[in-house]
Amino acid sequence: MRKRIAVIGGGIAGLAAAVRLRDLLGPDADLVVYEQGDALGGKLRTGELGGLTVERGAESFLNSGPDGAESAAVALARRIGLGDDLVHPAARPAALAIGGRLAPIPGGTLVGVPGDLSTLDGVALAEAGADRDEGRPLLAPGQDIAVGELVRARYGAEVVDRLVDPMLGGVYAGRADRLSLRVTMPQLARTAETEHTLRDAVRAAQAQSRRVPGRPVFAAVNGGMARLVERAAAAGGARIGLGTAVRAVTRTPKGWELTLGPAAAPETEHVDAVILAVPARPAARLLSAVAPGAAEAVGRLEYASVALAGLALPPGTSLPDLSGFLVPPGAGSLVKAATFFTHKWPHLDGGDGPVIVRASLGRAGEEERLHLDDDALLEVARKELGELIGTGLPTPTASWVQRWGGGLPQYAPGHADRIVAARAELPDGLALAGAAFDGVGIPVCIASGERAAEDVCKYLEEQ
Ligand SMILES: Cc1cc2nc3c(=O)[nH]c(=O)nc-3n(C[C@H](O)[C@H](O)[C@H](O)COP(=O)(O)OP(=O)(O)OC[C@H]3O[C@@H](n4cnc5c(N)ncnc54)[C@H](O)[C@@H]3O)c2cc1C
Repeated sequence: MRKRIAVIGGGIAGLAAAVRLRDLLGPDADLVVYEQGDALGGKLRTGELGGLTVERGAESFLNSGPDGAESAAVALARRIGLGDDLVHPAARPAALAIGGRLAPIPGGTLVGVPGDLSTLDGVALAEAGADRDEGRPLLAPGQDIAVGELVRARYGAEVVDRLVDPMLGGVYAGRADRLSLRVTMPQLARTAETEHTLRDAVRAAQAQSRRVPGRPVFAAVNGGMARLVERAAAAGGARIGLGTAVRAVTRTPKGWELTLGPAAAPETEHVDAVILAVPARPAARLLSAVAPGAAEAVGRLEYASVALAGLALPPGTSLPDLSGFLVPPGAGSLVKAATFFTHKWPHLDGGDGPVIVRASLGRAGEEERLHLDDDALLEVARKELGELIGTGLPTPTASWVQRWGGGLPQYAPGHADRIVAARAELPDGLALAGAAFDGVGIPVCIASGERAAEDVCKYLEEQ
């Protein structure tokens, strides 16, 4: 019988799920993707600035997976015909804004956690003596801990504040003292179960990493992430319900009923299985009727808000020879990171075109600092960037502000276990996918969507 499957959420996790469902179930399956917004892609949103393609959301993805093979994002790009359109950043270093200067990020760290304290180049002073072998592994099997707690205890505060915090802040806009080691640095969490010092745990994690020498760390799509989104939607071949929020999910004797659309004029749809690929709050609301314990666990995830300020500066504007820089939270600036887009991405740098800088503003727990109108936020961005760079910045010829209210998950210690427990409580035929559950990076979200599709297909086969 023809299978009907609904994917709720048209971000990259939901779209990757639809592609995998199509590949597994063939042309006959009736797939539908419901997206409450007016466009697909979720946190992937490509924009324009000064005539160039500039991302208003996620900018790039990891090129390799944890096993050293190509990442799930690269594999999806190939699957949907974009393999030849992948581009890579120039080999320009990034810096840390420390004490009024831009210092190169020390090499050889694992997301800012050093395995060799002699290579910190004066960026942070480590308390080397604290990383003693106390005759047992750093973590018990399965134990989770905040990254900051572990690193602070072993290397002291400066390594956390000046290295790990800005690196984690660059990805999560969050603080090391609140983010789960197991979610944000899974390799280190594993090696910490056997190694007795942080130094050895970092080195073991680095030795296990299967990075292929010479392969660029990051990739992006020439023409923008929007192309990944469009091609994935086409390859999934699902009906797309844009502007359609799913308001309730209920179990029926034969499958699932979805309540859609405005409360005043609700519609229902019946399907055999459901993939929930939405952020934690809507996921918790939708789960509350069918798996209340799972809803409670999922709903505990908090989010940070950020805003991106895109500035097109006059051609020839001089910037440091960097791809960008990260700012430790202690610096007090609203800008937490900046990317020199036209330096970083050679395919954008036409030579005589505008110089594009994208600043990321805001951190977890500081939402109120973003409560400025766009013009004021742009002015703060330009002023702070100028100070951090040290030379001031000219008036942009074009600019925009992109706000991501509640855009970045803040995985607290224990998150992974909570999600395992939540999944165990789900009724058959309902699967969870995306950043709310499995991690923030695009490849992780894609793999999560694909796994949800596989789980649902397995369930349908058994029916
Ligand atoms: C500013 C920013 C920069 C980032 N940069 C990078 C980067 O460079 N590299 C990287 O790997 N990652 C990056 N990330 C993270 C990454 O983009 C996200 O984690 C990922 O795209 C999330 O995908 P998703 O499909 O899980 O969720 P989302 O993209 O959040 O998609 C979920 C979708 O569900 C929809 N939805 C919600 N409720 C309902 C409902 N009831 N009914 C129907 N639809 C609903 C939403 O509208 C949304 O479109 C960045 C994130 C942000 C915010």
